[in-house]
Amino acid sequence: MQDYDKDPLIIESGEGVLLKDTEGNTYYDGFSSVWLNVHGHRKKELDEAIRAQLDKIAHSTLLGMTNVPATELAERLVKMTPKGLDRVFYSDSGASAVEIALKMAFQYWQNIGKVQKQKFVTMSNGYHGDTIGAVSLGNVDIFHKVYKPLLFDSYKVPYPYVYRHESGVEVICRDECLQELKRVLEKHHDEIAALIVEPMMQGASGMIKMPEGYLAGMQSLCKEYDVLLIADEVATGFGRTGELFACNHEAVVPDIMTTGKGITGGYLPIAATLTSEHIYQAFYDDYTKLKTFFHGHSYTGNQLGCAVALANLDLFENDQIIENVQTKSNLIKNELERFKELEHVGDIRQIGFMAGIELVKNKQTKESFKWEDRTGYQVSLKMRELGMLTRPLGDVIALLPPLASSPDDLKAMLGIMKEAIQTVTEGATVNG
Ligand SMILES: *Cc1c(COP(=O)(O)O)cnc(C)c1O
Repeated sequence: MQDYDKDPLIIESGEGVLLKDTEGNTYYDGFSSVWLNVHGHRKKELDEAIRAQLDKIAHSTLLGMTNVPATELAERLVKMTPKGLDRVFYSDSGASAVEIALKMAFQYWQNIGKVQKQKFVTMSNGYHGDTIGAVSLGNVDIFHKVYKPLLFDSYKVPYPYVYRHESGVEVICRDECLQELKRVLEKHHDEIAALIVEPMMQGASGMIKMPEGYLAGMQSLCKEYDVLLIADEVATGFGRTGELFACNHEAVVPDIMTTGKGITGGYLPIAATLTSEHIYQAFYDDYTKLKTFFHGHSYTGNQLGCAVALANLDLFENDQIIENVQTKSNLIKNELERFKELEHVGDIRQIGFMAGIELVKNKQTKESFKWEDRTGYQVSLKMRELGMLTRPLGDVIALLPPLASSPDDLKAMLGIMKEAIQTVTEGATVNG
C-alpha cells in the first residue's frame, strides 16, 4: 500500500486500448487490465449487450433454476472448447473456477468408490488463484509461502523452465520433467485424484513457456495412470495464445478445464469450469445417494455477465480475433527479437499475445538482479511515465495487450517497453 500511496493512479475512463486517469494522462493498456481485455474498452457491441440485458433482468439465481443467457452461453462454450468437454459449471472468478475443479475432481473419485484417490499433482511455479484451495495447488513462494500452515499437501513436480534448466535445451528439460512426473504417478497414482497445469504458458510466475510436446506428454501419462487432467485456461483461454484454447496447440482434451478472464471480453466477472459427460454422470443420481456437488455462489450465472460473454463470443467470430492474433503475434515476435541486443535481457518467451521478458544482472551467468532492487517494478514505473501500463512479475516484464490491438498499437507498446528496459537497466536515455 505504501507504493500505491506514493503516486496513486486512478483510472477514470478508457477507449480502445487506452486508459485515461483522473489527471488526463493516457496509457496503453499493455496488460489488458490484468489479462482480461479482448476487444478494447468501450466496445460498442459489448456495451450494447449489457444495456439490452438490463432491459430484461440484471440477475436471478442459478441455484435450482437457470436463465436464458447462461443457458445459451453454456451451449456456446461446449461447442467451442475441446471436444469432450460437454458440461459447464459457472462461477465468478478464476480462483472459484479452480476451487470447483478441485472439489469436482476429488468428489468424482469419492462418488465412484475409489475413495483413496485424494491427492493432487501440482507444478513448480504454478499459479491458480488466491483462495486457499487454489493457493494449495500453486507453488509461487512469494505469494504462497506465508499461508503454508493453512494449505493441503500435494505432489509437486518440476515444470520445464528451459532457461533455468542446467542444460538449457528444450527436449532435455522436457523429457526430464516428464520422467519425474512418470515416477510420481507410477508410485502414487492410487492416491492421486488429478494433476493441474497451466497449459502452454505459466502466467503469474513469469510467463514460462512449455517446450513442445510436454503438454501432450502429460496427458498421456495421466491417461496411463488413471489420473484426471485439469487444464487451468483462466489466463490462456479465449485466444490469448493464438488458439481459442491453449490445449488446442497440442490437441489435448483435459478432463476438467477452468476458464475466466477473457470470457466476457474483460467486462464482468464470469468464470466457468467445464468437464466431460462421464464426470458429470458420476454426480447424477437420486438425491438420497448424496452424490450432489455442493457448491454455489450467489452471483453464479449472472445474466449481465453471460449476456456480455455471448456478445464477446460473437465478436471473436465477426472480428476474426484468432486469425488476427496469429498474424499480429508474428509482429510481436519480430519486434521482440530486437530486445535480445539489450544488455540485461536474459530470455524472451512468447506465445500469441502473451509475452514475458526476463531481465538478468548478467546475461552470461544468468545471475538475477537482487530482489530488493525491484528492477521489474522500476521498469514498470518508467513505462507508466512513458505512457503504458503493465504489471511486472518479479523481473519479468509482461506484455499481454488486448487481442484487438492494431499493429501500430503493438509497435508503440513494444517501443515503450524497450526504452523503459534500456533506461532502467542500462541507465541510458535512448530513442525508441
Ligand atoms: C488469473 C488466474 C487465476 C485466478 O483468476 P481470478 O479471476 O483472478 O480469481 C487462476 N488461474 C490462472 C492461470 C490465472 O492466470
